[in-house]
Amino acid sequence: MSEAHLTFDLDTPGVSRGHLVVPGGADHGELSLPVFSLNKGEGPRLLVTGGNHGNELEGPIVARRLIKWLPDAQTCGRVIVLPVLNPLAVQAWSRNTPLDGLNLNRVFPGRADGSVTERIADAVSRVLLPMADTVFDLHSFGPTWEFPPAATTHPIADPDLMARTVRMAEAFKLPLTLVWQHNDTAGMFDITAQNQGKVFVCTEFGGGTVGADNLAIYEAGVRNALIALGLVEGKAEYPTFRQQKFGQTLETRPSDELKSPAPGIFEPLCSVLDEVKQGDLIGILHSIDSLSAESIDIRAPETSIVLAIASGAHVDANEEVALVARPLKL
Ligand SMILES: [Zn+2]
Repeated sequence: MSEAHLTFDLDTPGVSRGHLVVPGGADHGELSLPVFSLNKGEGPRLLVTGGNHGNELEGPIVARRLIKWLPDAQTCGRVIVLPVLNPLAVQAWSRNTPLDGLNLNRVFPGRADGSVTERIADAVSRVLLPMADTVFDLHSFGPTWEFPPAATTHPIADPDLMARTVRMAEAFKLPLTLVWQHNDTAGMFDITAQNQGKVFVCTEFGGGTVGADNLAIYEAGVRNALIALGLVEGKAEYPTFRQQKFGQTLETRPSDELKSPAPGIFEPLCSVLDEVKQGDLIGILHSIDSLSAESIDIRAPETSIVLAIASGAHVDANEEVALVARPLKL
């Protein structure tokens, strides 16, 4: 069996383009994932990845933009860009890999003798991750939610790494920096990188469609982070979101998920980053079985900030319809 490898030497000075080769297995042949590297010697070592989930395409687009302007902008250090981690999922516009049904962001660090998704994770963990001290994994929230442009992390046990990660996330200067506590973190790319002491920031965007306005904010955020790392010169600035330039740092926990008490069409009654008081209406549910049935109110459990809200859609009972948050206390 061949080993996962790069088709070029990362130590080559200047720009290199080549592939990360993921060996074939019983379920799929060898994959060659395009990789860009710009080596300007001493300095920070950054890995930028996109296309971890196949239906989140802002990341691959912004990664391609980065490859275009980086050669004229980068002054030191090394940046490796892998725009599409999971080409099989991207081709299918699917969160998971259709072939094995696996979520790439839950199988890290992967397995060399596993299924194709596990082999991708193994190749990235083994070949690229050791070459970086900081990782930006570019995601988006997908079409069924409204979510503000955000740089996110999860709570990290090591307080020093936690503080450095939050500072890095805030350096994107996006409208939202989020510390996101949820219970489904096993096998995430973040965890593998953080276990090796690396700073890992996930960007998340929402709103349904891949639009020019969001892409501009996303790209500006990545540029701000590169400036903060010292890889690129320039002045970091808050991008304009809803006619404002601002940023805030929030935290959310599993208990902040609001679920629908019954099936129905969910009608959102507020927008992301709205402040709500206890009892304020966040949305209502409309029954599709009866015109005489009263709609059901979904209210804020406490004073908080609306972080994510489902797009108008039919939801099942106990399905998540909103997520609230509050200012981070470290
Ligand atoms: Zn994602």
